[in-house]
Amino acid sequence: MKSLIVANWKMNPKTYKEAKKLFDETKRLTGLLKGVSVVVCPPAVFLRSLAIGQRAGRISFGAQNVHFEAQGSYTGEISVAQVKDAKAAYAIIGHAERRAMGETNYDVRKKVDAALVGGLTPIMCIGEKERGHGAEHFELAREQLRVGLSEDAGKRLSKIIIAYEPVWAIGATKAMEPRQMHEMAIFIRKTLVERFGEAGHSIKILYGGSVDGKNAGDMLRNGDVTGLLVGRVSVDSQAFSELLRACAEA
Ligand code: PEP
Repeated sequence: MKSLIVANWKMNPKTYKEAKKLFDETKRLTGLLKGVSVVVCPPAVFLRSLAIGQRAGRISFGAQNVHFEAQGSYTGEISVAQVKDAKAAYAIIGHAERRAMGETNYDVRKKVDAALVGGLTPIMCIGEKERGHGAEHFELAREQLRVGLSEDAGKRLSKIIIAYEPVWAIGATKAMEPRQMHEMAIFIRKTLVERFGEAGHSIKILYGGSVDGKNAGDMLRNGDVTGLLVGRVSVDSQAFSELLRACAEA
């Protein structure tokens, strides 16, 4: 099965020229490797110029955030319609770095709903800040899913992607173990099935947090995930090429 690799460029690179170079290289690699689909999530200001003229294929585009209101006086924000108009099909919602800036589970819920209504696929991020020895991380994930997904969203689970990104593994030196991801994937599905029924079984789940060419294959084979959400490595062509090759072989 094809793996879905989401490249979250965050606030990188500095110029459009560099962004274009990085995108062209990402596109070239994706074209060579049959087993992967890539969603490039560049800074919003680069989105349209990169996406324009691209044919639908194994590379597509996403925003790193959207606002839940359709339009109006929201300085600095971007709407779902604007993101769609810029030719993106996905939106990362509730990334840990945005939650750290104050985004709540209720904001996430409104954004997921707005994305679904507007025809974008939400990539809803969840994950605990710290991992202790108890089961708190499961409780936190349950709460993030409970509040983040409305009843309406529950009717459209096939259009939603859940990205499990334990905050302690983002920007770290080591990814989480695939075995731990497998446990969490089972927990996410069970939680969704209990609330929304059978459709919860087939929810797409990504893992994110310090993924690279060395650990990506193991995570895809043993982590019970559809794909990966990649930060730092996605803006380094060489490292991303190693990662994509590992994913294509997995
Ligand atoms: C992220 O920020 O979503 C992420 C996974 O970052 P990194 O790959 O750099 O840990």
